[in-house]
Amino acid sequence: MSFSHLSHLECGRCGTGHDADRPQNLCEACGSPLLARYDLAAARSAVRPADLTARPADLWRYHELLPVRRADAVTTLGEGMTPLLPMARYGESIGLPRLLMKDEGLVPTGSFKARGAAVGVSRAAELGIKRLAMPTNGNAGAAWSVYGARAGLAATIVMPVDAPEITRRECVAAGADLHLVDGLISDAGRIVGELVAHAGGQVFDASTLKEPYRIEGKKTMGLEIAEQLGWRLPDVIIYPTGGGVGLIGIHKALNELLELGWISGPLPRLVAVQAEGCAPIVRAFELGERESTFWPDSRTVAFGINVPKAIGDFLILEALAETSGTAISVSDDELLADLRKVAALEGAFVCPEGAAAFTAARRLRASGWIGADDQVVVLNTGAGLKYPQTVPVDAPVLPVDGHLG
Ligand SMILES: *Cc1c(COP(=O)(O)O)cnc(C)c1O
Ligand SMILES: [Zn+2]
Repeated sequence: MSFSHLSHLECGRCGTGHDADRPQNLCEACGSPLLARYDLAAARSAVRPADLTARPADLWRYHELLPVRRADAVTTLGEGMTPLLPMARYGESIGLPRLLMKDEGLVPTGSFKARGAAVGVSRAAELGIKRLAMPTNGNAGAAWSVYGARAGLAATIVMPVDAPEITRRECVAAGADLHLVDGLISDAGRIVGELVAHAGGQVFDASTLKEPYRIEGKKTMGLEIAEQLGWRLPDVIIYPTGGGVGLIGIHKALNELLELGWISGPLPRLVAVQAEGCAPIVRAFELGERESTFWPDSRTVAFGINVPKAIGDFLILEALAETSGTAISVSDDELLADLRKVAALEGAFVCPEGAAAFTAARRLRASGWIGADDQVVVLNTGAGLKYPQTVPVDAPVLPVDGHLG
């Protein structure tokens, strides 16, 4: 019995195969992201959906479909199997009574980046990597720092100075080598690229989609949605899209489940949500392009989706096209209003990126793109607690002997 049925890595653009059992970054032929491929026929005879029920409620329950080869190489803080919650009140208010939210605020480090970090760090350690480096908008750096600490890996993290402050503190607490840059994640990426190029193989570049295993952790959101719905699929999945790894990962997961025969099609229509101040995928989608172009002077309060150019843009656009999905941008004012409304109606303090996905659900229902009977899953990708500044407080301060009314 294999713990993992990983077979090889395959370029997402040109299809060139690569050895999965040594550290790899981009395709050696064309410089595009590599995707993990599995022997799904072997997996199909090794495990059935019913076998999962006896396993722990974390993402490692899907280990046959994950790249870590040895059970003892797993580094975990208990990530995964987040709740899939009905959002009936907010749903009713926007004409979507069957609205569901998958709440990624409940994973370690308070964002779904923990999924990518758990799998990416475990596999890096298994392959003998000792030090990694990455650019981040905050949450990924925090997650890779803490999982790195647990696995005994050193991490160099570069993030914009205005990334959410708590993520900086998480990196420092975990002992990472943290650097701030007065710029965007794309500027941080250039700095990390130079560091890696000059390190003579001593530092592994763990940037989004420049290493092939973070996406494998993120795809478990798609595996869980299918399992939590009894191996049935929702009509629509709405995802706040920066680098797009979660969206590409969910699409990949559902295709693997189709091939396993655990689900049948059609796949849910996938929706990429971006902020009006940073919407390169939306623009490319609307123009019918296969790739995006760099979005200058990007800005949004939804920091996790402030990515002016995603290396996996063509994979995001393919996932949207293959599922008859769409892309939509929302304003910061709208998403902040929905953040308040979701908290007040549902008791869920979502992150601004998650709030953007709720705004998208509302707008796509209003336009008729989503029907009233559709079952829609919104990904809340992180905890509102990580972004305390999104809700201003003007509560009066009472004197110590004060009274109300
Ligand atoms: C990173 C991040 C995103 C975007 O994720 P991608 O998979 O890179 O598109 C969305 N929300 C939050 C909270 C994030 O940290
Ligand atoms: Zn290639």
